[in-house]
Amino acid sequence: MHEFSLASAIVEQVKEIIEEHKAIRVKKISISAGPYELIIPDLLQDSFKIITDELEKFRESVLELIRKPARITCLECDYNGEPDSEGDEEFAFNFKCPECGSRDTHIDRSYLTIESVDLELPS
Ligand SMILES: [Zn+2]
Repeated sequence: MHEFSLASAIVEQVKEIIEEHKAIRVKKISISAGPYELIIPDLLQDSFKIITDELEKFRESVLELIRKPARITCLECDYNGEPDSEGDEEFAFNFKCPECGSRDTHIDRSYLTIESVDLELPS
């Protein structure tokens, strides 16, 4: 289960952040993912709940998933960023470079990242 391993990777990373800041608990975790990260949000949420169920520091924490637009790298001019809106999302190879118009582009498929972690810190 893809979502389960993703959720546990997120929890592991957040545990380190909690440790680092000596936080009492985590209130909210925001993660971002591109459209080609094939995540089923409900499954990710369920996995997150299962994993954090027994963890005191994750009690009532919220996991927020932010969808990011696709990113491409142009093989012609080295442009890196969002593709031309003309790109057909059904076909990753069809994205057009907004800089030079080339369709010789690469889609950056995986960039799931932790955007922010909202901690409750000791006063
Ligand atoms: Zn280009």
